[in-house]
This record gives sequence, C-alpha cells and structure tokens, in this order.
Amino acid sequence: MAEIAVNLRSVRDKILYAATKRESKHRYFEPRLVAVSKLQSTESILSAYEAGQRHFGENYVNELIEKALNPQILEKCKEIQWHFIGNLQRNKINKILNVPNLYIIETVSNDKLADVLNNSWPRFRKSDNSKLNVMVQINTSQEKEKNGCDIIQVLSLVKHVINNCHNLKFMGLMTIGMFGYNIANGPNPDFVCLIKCREKISDELGIDMKNVELSMGMSSDYEHAIELGSTNVRVGTAIFGDRPQKNIL
Ligand SMILES: *Cc1c(COP(=O)(O)O)cnc(C)c1O
Repeated sequence: MAEIAVNLRSVRDKILYAATKRESKHRYFEPRLVAVSKLQSTESILSAYEAGQRHFGENYVNELIEKALNPQILEKCKEIQWHFIGNLQRNKINKILNVPNLYIIETVSNDKLADVLNNSWPRFRKSDNSKLNVMVQINTSQEKEKNGCDIIQVLSLVKHVINNCHNLKFMGLMTIGMFGYNIANGPNPDFVCLIKCREKISDELGIDMKNVELSMGMSSDYEHAIELGSTNVRVGTAIFGDRPQKNIL
C-alpha cells in the first residue's frame, strides 16, 4: 500500500511536468487527477486518500455505491469526490444519485439520459438549487462497442443540456478513445477530435473555452493528453497497479 503513495507522487510529478509543455492558451488550469479505483479494494482507496488524493473514478454503479457507503470510507474520506465514468443505464439513476459525495457524471451520452438525470436530481440534492455536474461523452473513435454520442450529435446534446436541463451543470467533454494508439505517429486523433468538438461548441454556443473541460488521458497516455490540453485525466493502473479480475470481487 506504500507503493500507492509512491505511484501517486510520480504520476502527479509527471502531470505537473506535462502541464508545462502545453501551449500557452491551455495553461489556465491545473489538470485534475482522477484516481480510477474500479475493481480495487477499499484499502487501496484509503491509502490513496491518505496520500492526498481526493478525486476518484468508478465504472460500475453497484461497486461505486458499495464503496461510497463503506463505513471506513465515510468516516475517513470526508472530502472524497466521486466521478462516475462508466455506462449509465437509466434504471440505475436513482441509485447513483444517492451516492454521498458524487462529484460528477462524466458519461452523459444522449438527451434521454440527460433528461432523467435532470428530472431526478431535485429529489436527491442536499442543498436547494445545487446542480449536478455532468460531462458529455463523445465516441471520438466511432467504434461500435464504445459508448458516447456521435460526433455529429455533440452540439445538439450540449445545447439540450444547457438550455433544457437546468438542474445539470455542463462541465465539459469526455472521451475514452481507441486503445493502443502510438504517439510516435503524432497527436492522438481522439484527443484532437475532442479539442475540435470543444472549439465548435464554444464558437456556436458562445461559451468561453475555459468553461468546457476536456476529460481525456489514462495510464498509458495521460502526459500526452495533458500536453494537448486535457483538464481531467483518469488514471488507474499507474496508481493502483494491475486490476483484479471482475469476477473475484
Ligand atoms: C478503467 C478506466 C480508466 C483507467 O484506465 P487505466 O488504463 O487503468 O489508467 C480511465 N477511464 C475509463 C473510462 C476507464 O474505464
């Protein structure tokens, strides 16, 4: 578990260094590190938290609930901020909105999901008029099995969230992208695509680019993503080591 603290320090150092290599227009924001703890133990989360980590990402609703309601986590991790980064089925929405310290849902991929979140949030929020942070996930690699909205639907989905979903706060765009891209071939096309989508949104909707975050980059490519302007990297293995198999849990 001491290893987690060492890994975290190394990842944070690399993030800070990568941030110095950004173009100046991207240097308005210190990138946020989300420690992706899916399939990792409660002990691992506690170690990372003790080492100063606050933002954690989870992919599976049931697992997130179990961890978020774990008595040790509730007691020792009062400032934890949960990011949901997996597929969200509409029938699980009431469960997820009940998670204490839910910070954001990064994977809103269609109007209907946005509507259900928007309509349900008032029953769960702890303070009047607080909004639920969301990002819109884009399937930049256009792979059939990947989630996220199509590139051509991004503008209309973001517009819908901003104009019609007053209980949601649109925070930015998220992509997973294709695995195994070799950056020797140039900037990752998925990241470039996400950046272009942001440009389009800010032009067409008149939003300052600085108010549209980019969630991109994982263990294998977070430094590259940050150099291109990522504001939110989701890093699992590089912090916690290899993930246990799902069926062992
Ligand atoms: C698992 C996962 C990550 C982290 O992957 P690592 O390669 O372990 O860093 C990031 N984002 C999403 C959406 C994931 O499912």
